[in-house]
Amino acid sequence: METPLTPLEFMRRARRLYPDREAVVDGPRRFTYAAFFDRCDRWSAALQALGVAQGDRVAYIAPNTHAQLESFYAVPQIGAVLVPVNYRLAADEFRYLIEHSGATVVCADGDYLDAVDGIRAQLGGVRHFVALDRGREGWLDYEGLLAASSGQPRRPEIGERDLLTINYTSGTTSRPKGVMITHRNAWMNSVGMLAHITMSPADAYLWTLPMFHANGWTFTWTVTAAGAKHVCLRKVEPAAVFRLATAENITWLCAAPTVLIALANAPAELKGFAPRGVQVMTAGAPPAAVTIERLEEGLGWSVIQIYGLTETAPAISICEPRPEHRGLTTAERARIKARQGVELITSGELRVVDDHGAEVPADGETIGEIVARGNVVMAGYYRDPDATQKVMGDGWFHTGDAAVVHPDGYVEIRDRLKDVIISGGENISSVEVESTLLGHEAVQEIAVVGMPDEKWGEAPHAFVVFKPGASATADDLRAFCRARLAHFKTPHSFTAVAELPKTATGKIQKFILRGGRTNLSKQ
Ligand code: AMP
Repeated sequence: METPLTPLEFMRRARRLYPDREAVVDGPRRFTYAAFFDRCDRWSAALQALGVAQGDRVAYIAPNTHAQLESFYAVPQIGAVLVPVNYRLAADEFRYLIEHSGATVVCADGDYLDAVDGIRAQLGGVRHFVALDRGREGWLDYEGLLAASSGQPRRPEIGERDLLTINYTSGTTSRPKGVMITHRNAWMNSVGMLAHITMSPADAYLWTLPMFHANGWTFTWTVTAAGAKHVCLRKVEPAAVFRLATAENITWLCAAPTVLIALANAPAELKGFAPRGVQVMTAGAPPAAVTIERLEEGLGWSVIQIYGLTETAPAISICEPRPEHRGLTTAERARIKARQGVELITSGELRVVDDHGAEVPADGETIGEIVARGNVVMAGYYRDPDATQKVMGDGWFHTGDAAVVHPDGYVEIRDRLKDVIISGGENISSVEVESTLLGHEAVQEIAVVGMPDEKWGEAPHAFVVFKPGASATADDLRAFCRARLAHFKTPHSFTAVAELPKTATGKIQKFILRGGRTNLSKQ
């Protein structure tokens, strides 16, 4: 006997087992699992009444609210495909994603109604616009539709290979691509996650990670599978994170390293409110060992790293703790925790290969590209067979991430392949230089990029954000690096900046940094 592998199974089970448990907290609003799923059913039936059929696309532009969370159940349970849009994009990018996905319904949070109204005339394929949290002329009202709904959606048969979501990549060099995630992909990722972490109805999860980012690393479904509590958060600020963490007894959160840096460096009076023992999952960019150490030592939180891409649903590795790590000091353990780790039980095979597809030796030095194959790899890019063929045509998904393999089999990312700095014929890992400089007491954040250099071809250049009230000269920073790194890896020059350009998912936009600089030594 077979039933399709789909995260909707978690909904069916949670509805039966946890009806009276608290499911969602969003500001003053609180819903039990029974109430939450009743709202999802109402929205599913309302969508059907609006003409949404199996296979149709429904786009959302919303921060982490209960309405956004409801979409992860209400849309797929009628066989429709959810398109969670990065709300930090510009209006013209919204237009591109909505048109490209062919969405017939667009649901938007109040903060984005103006942006959508501005492009509305160009969205001929959209039949309905739904305002999620406040009424406006020309928009359907979400709460009104829920109240009027029969709450009895028709549930079509859903195959595990059917599309669940289309998640658009950030597209730094080209137009964003629509990653097609199937029900099976998402189920595999959630179950794999729960095989490696402990989460139960006793847990409370804080939404510091945007739900649109790879479906919140599937925690939109994983938390429900565990019967735990979702606590929504519109905007990630350390004060709000610490306050909610205490008020709601938070035990878990996910966040990109840039958020962890902000939390670790928050003023002591704020950190004083933070509960201890919170488990933190990080990914999206390489976390530095010092950041992990500061969170573990300073806040008493415990960090675990996963790695993956939107295209892999997303996790393809986890830095699995081993008993032999227990005897290490916090600093030594943080160095291991900063590695991306090993494949998950359900994520399939992961290799690091050279240009000819041969595995690199596990020597912690030879750099290759991470490739993966298995049940979490996407069905392809929506309406883009050429791009799909390019990344997975040979039976392996090519990540574009450059990594080494340590003798214990743990993988460590050194760079995006295109960001590796080649100076005088030597490879320099910007990640290694960045992690070193983050250990300097004045440095809050750092980005190292390769800049054209007459003598060396390329030379490392560092952009530095200092901690409030702190500073250092280029000579200080250079000496700090030289004492810890090979000379050729030391940045030739430094630029102090107020902040680094970043995507909404916490990635530093190095292509913008390469565009211009002024030397710190000349300031
Ligand atoms: P996205 O599809 O937006 O999640 O971006 C995927 C990319 O983020 C990967 O190809 C990596 O370059 C980067 N990334 C994700 N997780 C990690 C991690 N744990 N360490 C280093 N880089 C990561």
